[in-house]
Amino acid sequence: MHFLISEVHNFGGFFGGDTVTLSGAPWRMEDAEEQTLTIDDAALLNVGERHHISAGMLLDLEFAGERVERAVLLGAANHAELRRALGEPELPAHIDAPLILARRCQSCELWVAVVAAAPCSVCGATAEP
Ligand SMILES: [Zn+2]
Repeated sequence: MHFLISEVHNFGGFFGGDTVTLSGAPWRMEDAEEQTLTIDDAALLNVGERHHISAGMLLDLEFAGERVERAVLLGAANHAELRRALGEPELPAHIDAPLILARRCQSCELWVAVVAAAPCSVCGATAEP
């Protein structure tokens, strides 16, 4: 499920494991209801540091019952937040041409991670000239 974060409430820790609690709603779904979720740090697959999760980010969530089992960051409201959350990109050993690592998708209205001039990894739209 694609889930757009509207607000990050707090970052938990202590004995129950490291978590982030946030609100948001299923992305671009009619009558989507706002919900509050607590996501375990270990479920954040491509985000190195849960404190880098912020409002305006789009997550791909997989649930196991009520619990979020996997959360993958797909996009963010701006470039700085996306890059900070994703951390250092994994680059090929040899690069022959400039590589695009992120761009703003006009269709999603989000910054998304890409490699080269690939279509938007969220909606499939191609870059505008
Ligand atoms: Zn898109």
